[in-house]
Amino acid sequence: MKIGFIGVGNMGHPMALNLLRAGCQVKVYDVVADAASDLADEGAEVVGALQQVVSGVDTVITMLPAGEQVRAVYLGDHDGGLGILNMADSGTLFIDSSTIDPASARLVAIQAASKGVDFVDAPVSGGVAGAKAGTLTFIVGGSDANFQRAGLVLKLIGKSILHAGKAGDGQMAKICNNLMLGIQMAGVCEALSLAIDNGLDPQIVSEIMQQSSGQNWVLDRYNPCPGVMANVPASQQYQPGFMAKLMLKDLGLGLDAAVESQSPIPMGTLARNLYAFHNAASNELLDFSSLFEFYRRRSDN
Ligand code: NAD
Repeated sequence: MKIGFIGVGNMGHPMALNLLRAGCQVKVYDVVADAASDLADEGAEVVGALQQVVSGVDTVITMLPAGEQVRAVYLGDHDGGLGILNMADSGTLFIDSSTIDPASARLVAIQAASKGVDFVDAPVSGGVAGAKAGTLTFIVGGSDANFQRAGLVLKLIGKSILHAGKAGDGQMAKICNNLMLGIQMAGVCEALSLAIDNGLDPQIVSEIMQQSSGQNWVLDRYNPCPGVMANVPASQQYQPGFMAKLMLKDLGLGLDAAVESQSPIPMGTLARNLYAFHNAASNELLDFSSLFEFYRRRSDN
C-alpha cells in the first residue's frame, strides 16, 4: 500500500512508523520539518509540501491537532490555497484520525463526496502507548463501503476498528469517550490526593481500587501519581503523551455538542473547568495526567 501521512506528532509519528514496519510505502509531511526527519531512516519519504504527500498514493491519513488544521489541510487555507481534496489523485481514500468537531468532519465528508473521493473520520483511542504498540481503537464515521475500505489500512496499525455510524459520528463517539476520560482522570487524581492527605500510600490505594469498584482505565494504564506506575507520563515529568491542551479541546468539543443538543453535562463541564484552570498555569503542554499536580499544589498556596 502507498500511504501519505500528514501530521507526525506524538500520535502520528508512531502510527507512520508502524505502517512502514507493516511493509507500506509511506510519504510523510509535517509543518514542523524536524518532526518527520527521523522517519526517513526508517524508509519513509519525507516531503516538504502537501501536494507532494498526496500525489501517487492510495490512501492519505491525517493526524492533526484540531478542526482548524483539518479544515485548512483538506479544504484550503484562508489565502485561497488549495486543500488536499483538490490535489489528490482520483480514487484516493482519505482518513482523518484527528479528534475534531463533528461539524468539520461532516463538512470535509460532503466536500470529498462532491469531488468523488472517499473519506472517513476515524479518531483513535489508546494513546501514545497504543499507537506505538499498534493496538489503537479506531472509531469510524462514514458509509459502509468507506468503512470497509478504511479497515484494510487501519487494521495494520490498530486492534479494534469500530463503525460508529455516518460521517461525523466517529468524532461524536470519540468526544463522548474523552468526556468520560477527562472526568475519570479528575476522579482518580482526587481519590489519590485524598488518600495521600490521609497518610496512605498511593501505590497501595491504586492497587486496592484496581481490585474494587473504582477500577477504571486510568488506574489500569495511566496512573497520574508520579512513581506509582512505570512508563507513564506521571513518572517522566509529565512529558506527553496526551497534552493537557488537547484534553481541554476535547472537553470543549463535548460542551459544544451538549449546547447543541441541550444535554446536561455537569461532570464534563466541571472537568473542562479544572483543565482550564490547570492549563492557565502554564501546564498546557504537559500530559493531561498532570492534573494531579493541580490537586496537590492547592495545599502549597
Ligand atoms: P501533536 O500536537 O503532538 O501532533 C500534531 C502534529 O500535526 C504536529 O507534529 C504538528 O506540527 C502537525 N501539524 C499541525 N498543523 C499542521 C498542518 N497544517 N500540516 C501538517 N502538519 C501539521 O498532537 P497528537 O498528540 O499527536 O494528537 C493529534 C490528534 O490526535 C489530536 O486531535 C488529539 O486530540 C488526538 N489524540 C491524541 C492522543 C494522544 O494520546 N496524544 C490520543 C488520542 C487522540
